[in-house]
Amino acid sequence: MSDFFCTKTAKARKEHKCCLCDKIIHKGEVHFVKSGKFEGYMFSDRQCLPCEPVLEEFHKDWDGGYSQHNVKEWWVDAKCAKCVYYDDYDEGCLMTHYCRCENFKEMVQ
Ligand SMILES: [Zn+2]
Repeated sequence: MSDFFCTKTAKARKEHKCCLCDKIIHKGEVHFVKSGKFEGYMFSDRQCLPCEPVLEEFHKDWDGGYSQHNVKEWWVDAKCAKCVYYDDYDEGCLMTHYCRCENFKEMVQ
């Protein structure tokens, strides 16, 4: 039996939580349903639309599987150091989602 992976979009019939950023996907909101089989385990994850470009960028740097945790680590390494708000860390980082940050603004060199 081989692994497979399938992505489709769906309109939420009830509330879900994004598997990457923990944002609430509200009833009626269009989102991704990613399902398949990986190493013998079936999975079906709900993911919000804004997480998709993050994941695409992540996959340029990283081959293979991902988890909420390694996407976050990648984001911190790849993005936070270049972010204009990074020096404000003492006052609390502005990370707005578990795996990415909507306040990210790249520093102009
Ligand atoms: Zn999300």
